[in-house]
Amino acid sequence: MTWLTGVAASPGVAVGEVFVLPGGSLAPPSDEPRPNGTHAEEQLARFDEALAVSHSRVKQARQWVDDARAQQAAAILDTHALMHEDPTLRAEVERAIRDERLHAEEAVRAAIEALREPLLRAPEPYLRERAADIGYVGAQILRGLRGELTPLEPFERATIVFASDFSPVEAVHLHELGAIALVAEHGSATGHTALLMRSLAVPAVVGVRGLRICRDARVAIVDGVIGRVALDPDPQELAEARARVERTAALSDDARAHRDLPSETLDGVRLTVHANAGRPGEAEHAAELGAAGIGLYRTEWLYLDRDEPPPEDEQAALYVSVAETMKGRPVVLRSFDLGGDKAARFASIEAEPNPALGLRGLRFAFAHPRLFEAQLRAILRATSHGDVRLLLPMVTGVMDLRDVKAALERCRRALEDEGEAVGDLPVGVMIETPGAALLADSLAAECDFLALGTNDLAQYTLAVDRGSRLVGHEADALHPAVLRLLAQVVEVAGRAGRSVHVCGALAADVQALPVLIGLGCRSLSVPVPEVLLVQERIRRLDAKECRELAASALTRHNAAQVRQMLRGRRPEDT
Ligand code: PEP
Ligand code: MG
Repeated sequence: MTWLTGVAASPGVAVGEVFVLPGGSLAPPSDEPRPNGTHAEEQLARFDEALAVSHSRVKQARQWVDDARAQQAAAILDTHALMHEDPTLRAEVERAIRDERLHAEEAVRAAIEALREPLLRAPEPYLRERAADIGYVGAQILRGLRGELTPLEPFERATIVFASDFSPVEAVHLHELGAIALVAEHGSATGHTALLMRSLAVPAVVGVRGLRICRDARVAIVDGVIGRVALDPDPQELAEARARVERTAALSDDARAHRDLPSETLDGVRLTVHANAGRPGEAEHAAELGAAGIGLYRTEWLYLDRDEPPPEDEQAALYVSVAETMKGRPVVLRSFDLGGDKAARFASIEAEPNPALGLRGLRFAFAHPRLFEAQLRAILRATSHGDVRLLLPMVTGVMDLRDVKAALERCRRALEDEGEAVGDLPVGVMIETPGAALLADSLAAECDFLALGTNDLAQYTLAVDRGSRLVGHEADALHPAVLRLLAQVVEVAGRAGRSVHVCGALAADVQALPVLIGLGCRSLSVPVPEVLLVQERIRRLDAKECRELAASALTRHNAAQVRQMLRGRRPEDT
């Protein structure tokens, strides 16, 4: 069995047969067929035909996502369709064929490169994403020229598709053919393909290094929650993963029966399980599953991929609708965590050598006071519609909190002068930097609640860029250094009488659950599809045993040893 680590791109677990997508660098090399014909008209006709086939494939995928009512996916595919209709592309290919006497293949490559090149150098991630989309369109037209766009047969058995990369169109197509999960060597969690897979609820792991060895594998487990893939798993792992898949399926079939059961361990320790949300429809789904509330609403999603910032009224309407959907259950709205890898198109952000350490989170908010103020006003306006709370990202100390509270006060007074009803707004801080973790006592003294962001806490504690293809897999929050900070924060919050919930990926990592319970965590916030599974897992654990496991985890030397220990093996075996 081989475990490979990548970036969790779309949550869920799948077990299936390995299928390597033909044509990519993972597939065995095949001789590139030589282009036929040399006559310009012939080359142009070949191009036009390939363009039409490629275009119709996009339109077909667009129809499928329409049927699945996945709005974000539809918008991405619309962009791909527009790229096929772009007269510049056709004109550039024609020019290269006629003037430079290139074959259609060469002309397409040159035209796509010319369109992509300036975007690739742009500092804004959304422009680089656009470059990726143009690249996908080009690759698909080239496949059309090679006659490779003939449809694959639907998969007869549960199949996991592996490729060097998936275009959004390809991903939808494979999903339609029955692929139950996707694994790619390239791509990122913020890429369009990942976004599309999430909206279609297909588990996916991307950015997996060393994927070439999958060619010889038969069966795989994909864990899209923590971003791991097992090739030819041993019988124990396979049985566990199958049981997890079955439990998830049974839970969703029987959601109503389970959703009202308390999330209580065998020895009576009660936890609450909230949901993370931020994309359209997620709050409704969380409410349907009976989540205790929204523990993390990532408001930055509203700001990405648009030319203008969302107006205050639009934001207020969204926050009100989330609060009303949750019917009095807490809704924790995190103020926008923009900057870093989540750059807003409308804010021209200077490229920085270390964006994760640059203008992001609250720093970005303070640098754009009008933008921040509009959001604070919108959040305050939602307070009279439910139990709305504000959570601050990337806090490093008490002064951050005080500055936000002063801004909130100004917004509150202005709204009241305008005759707007404003209710209470508890303010919490994300503990996701070592600075905040070490100063948790002073933060707890001035805020209403704490939220542990294990993704960034691991990134900053271990000095590992969580998005890095080379080292991202090492940002594992089960590392004892991160666990020690976590334990410290839980203890400090308890002493100060403040609630603390874990909302990073570790909260949904069923392997980590006993450790979190053992460290005293009593409140979790997990991706919506994981809510029922985590609740069900809690009911099978014994808190006393969890304390022993947690104590043992704190003494290990790295995350791998902690994971081995949790799988019931001796650390010396690692
Ligand atoms: C985290 O850092 O753990 C977190 C929940 O925030 P995000 O993943 O949105 O950075
Ligand atoms: Mg974070």
